[in-house]
Amino acid sequence: ERRLVWFRSDLRIHDNPALFSACQPSDNGQPAEVIACFMRPEKQWQQHDWGSNKQRYTERCVLDLQQTLKSRNIPLLTLDVSDFAGQIHYLLKLCQVLSISQILACEEPELNERHRDAQLIASAGAIGIKCHFFNDQSLIPMGQLLKKDGTPYRVYSAFRKQCLNWLESHPVTTWPDATVNLSQQQPFIELNASEWPLWQPESHSADQIQQQWPASEQQLLQTLDRFCTEGIQQYDTARDYPADQTGTSKLSAALACGKLSVRSCWLAARQVQAVDPQYQQAASCWCDELLWREFYRHLLVLYPDLCKRQPFKPETRAIRWRHAPNDLKRWQQGKTGFPLVDAAMRQLIQTGWMHNRLRMLVAVFLSKYLLIDWREGEYWFMQHLIDADLASNNGGWQWAASTGTDAVPYFRLLSPYRQAERFDAEGKFIATFLPELADLPAKKRIKPDIGAILYPEPMTDLKKSRQLAMEEFKRLSN
Ligand code: FAD
Repeated sequence: ERRLVWFRSDLRIHDNPALFSACQPSDNGQPAEVIACFMRPEKQWQQHDWGSNKQRYTERCVLDLQQTLKSRNIPLLTLDVSDFAGQIHYLLKLCQVLSISQILACEEPELNERHRDAQLIASAGAIGIKCHFFNDQSLIPMGQLLKKDGTPYRVYSAFRKQCLNWLESHPVTTWPDATVNLSQQQPFIELNASEWPLWQPESHSADQIQQQWPASEQQLLQTLDRFCTEGIQQYDTARDYPADQTGTSKLSAALACGKLSVRSCWLAARQVQAVDPQYQQAASCWCDELLWREFYRHLLVLYPDLCKRQPFKPETRAIRWRHAPNDLKRWQQGKTGFPLVDAAMRQLIQTGWMHNRLRMLVAVFLSKYLLIDWREGEYWFMQHLIDADLASNNGGWQWAASTGTDAVPYFRLLSPYRQAERFDAEGKFIATFLPELADLPAKKRIKPDIGAILYPEPMTDLKKSRQLAMEEFKRLSN
């Protein structure tokens, strides 16, 4: 029996339910033949706002997967298919040409992806091919954790509490690595270039941003291991300081592409707590972040409108966002005149990543102080983040813009100066990304004198713009 594992955002061999299941013997006890594939839907990626950082990173993850699978005798066929319709077309063709009887894959929470999978099940079923989809991206099957009255949790704290209860009675486990037991030589498949849109992933080794982000599964498992022996212990105190390079795990890109599984991360943190109770709180603080990720994934499934650029709170559709392309540009380029905001925006451009505290700050700055539509910021982040992920990005943006799930009634404001005083008091982070301020004393880096140096003046009066935004939001509740 031949089975096809279709890899999407689960680009790993460890703890992979689809791969594990495909490697199990057939009902008659015969070993199965396993073929794997990845289909790059470049046009679809663009339609989903993926920028080149995320695209190139995914390709590197695919290349690593191909090499790892090869060492286990499993061929990974890689095709260039443009969009989701193309994926279905070529999957069915593969099944027919290679006599495949089952397709196995891990579920994705996004709406278009789920529609595509439903369509595949129908089309494949019509020609006698079975499809199996596995929950993979979350600890609890996505969309299944509901309140007693059957409605979704809308507030994180209640969701978290119920998650922890659920996980008490359904302990997290990982799937074994079945590929090591595959004794049989797997089939050697060569597709004809004239009939198939063959594509070979590249290493993108010359790309300066990519160089900073490992895409090797082996290396990422080591990074997780290292974080759990050296980093997580201080996480509760260090995680808010952007100048601290090791304050957070920097595993978001790997989690977003499924190069690491959330279950492995969760169990690694739990292991720290079991071995050393003094780190109970620090490790649980990290687990809470994994639960934020979980929360946003569940929401995406339960509120499909989130995938259609709609606000979580429908009443906020009435907000009159400012159309201010020049202001938006200054924010994007890190030229607002507020040093911590600018340093953060330059970190994004230069590294493809931004510290979580700063993501919150710049998102509040754009949506509240500049009263520019959060969707502009969401898009800019998708274009630049190496860890771009619809669920977490949309969740984070809507939280910051008060159109989302934030429990605070309607107004959350983070002052750029106050945030700098609290979380970059020595101006170290600012100096790293704004070299033009590096020679100033710490206080002046945080709030430079106007006109003293070659640095833009603050683009807005914080007090006035705060007032304006407050009024706009108040209008909604009247
Ligand atoms: P750690 O602090 O080590 O956390 C561990 C993991 O938990 C992260 O890798 C991530 O998978 C998850 N996580 C942590 N914080 C959050 C959070 N607030 N929400 C959801 N998951 C979280 N994260 C993305 O992965 N992709 C995005 O596109 C994204 N966009 C964001 C946009 C905004 C406006 C905001 C406020 C947050 C966004 N986040 C996003 C969440 C968070 O900022 C990043 O996950 C985190 O900074 C990644 O760094 P880390 O891996 O070192 O995290």
